Amino acid sequence: MTVHQGRCFCGAVAIEASGAPEAMGYCHCRSCRSWSGGPVNAFSLWKPDAVRVTDGAEHLRTYAKTPQSERQYCSECGGHLMTNHPTFGLVDVFAATLPTLDFQPAVHVNYAESVLKMRDGLPKLKDFPAELGGSGESVPE
Ligand SMILES: [Zn+2]
Ligand SMILES: [Zn+2]
Repeated sequence: MTVHQGRCFCGAVAIEASGAPEAMGYCHCRSCRSWSGGPVNAFSLWKPDAVRVTDGAEHLRTYAKTPQSERQYCSECGGHLMTNHPTFGLVDVFAATLPTLDFQPAVHVNYAESVLKMRDGLPKLKDFPAELGGSGESVPE
């Protein structure tokens, strides 16, 4: 099984993601933009048991502005690692956290909130897919 290893910005916290992600893409929502400091969040979604902290767990902190997103970062450097989505049953390990992951985006979510239009021909969802409780509606690129 493929194992991807990643570390926070300073290296104190190490994580491992095993196998293949359930989905990959970009989130354009205001929360992701605000927390990441970038115009989009490149996500890779994993089953929670595929992801584990292998080093520096004592430095891992969680901030949950809403119960849907438990955002995890390193207390030493402030570097972001992943966001647990308990209501989806998935963990978003930021694509940038896993250097060996072959990032193959398939969808854009929360594109209605986009500040960076990405005309790459991929599906653009207004919010979330219907199976995750969203409208499932598409919006123009
Ligand atoms: Zn760190
Ligand atoms: Zn988002």
